[in-house]
Amino acid sequence: AGPGGHLAGHIRDVVDHPRPGVTFKDITPLLADPGAFADTVDILSAMCTRLGATRIAGLEARGFLLAAPVALRCGAGCVPVRKAGKLPGETFSRAYELEYGTATLEIQRDAFRPEDRVVVVDDVLATGGTAEAAIELVHSTGARVTGVVVLMELTFLPGRERLERLVKSDCVQAA
Ligand code: 5GP
Repeated sequence: AGPGGHLAGHIRDVVDHPRPGVTFKDITPLLADPGAFADTVDILSAMCTRLGATRIAGLEARGFLLAAPVALRCGAGCVPVRKAGKLPGETFSRAYELEYGTATLEIQRDAFRPEDRVVVVDDVLATGGTAEAAIELVHSTGARVTGVVVLMELTFLPGRERLERLVKSDCVQAA
């Protein structure tokens, strides 16, 4: 384990969620523990600062819970990447593959300044499809993505390799 090795005990395995055969990493015990949550924000913020972040792009919905405190800690702006139909005004959209079917993420067209260095923050990296769609959305605004930072990476899936052609990735805790 990396710098957040002690945080693993606050992430709970939920068998057969959201469907049979899947073991879901539940981060709610970590969020409910003020010390573990504070340590998580410290570690994620240090990673984002190293990546020179001026904007943190948080992915709906659990990514929001991490992106907001991390952005404040880094002195960066916080930008929501949302599911289709939620953001007001002009947006860019990107459909991506899920295990069953597709989903669409959106970002506001004017979310960034040309000089921004954007770090994408989420709770869990699994196949990498969600983070990849988010990176491509940021690119469509003309801004630069300097990294993807997650609380937990499912290392039995090739998510990191999928993102490597696009950006540097870092995680606090591997499972
Ligand atoms: P991917 O697109 O990398 O396959 O899936 C990552 C997205 O699905 C993230 O937004 C993440 O919140 C969610 N996700 C997938 N598996 C898990 C899991 O086991 N635990 C949690 N908390 N989120 C997951």
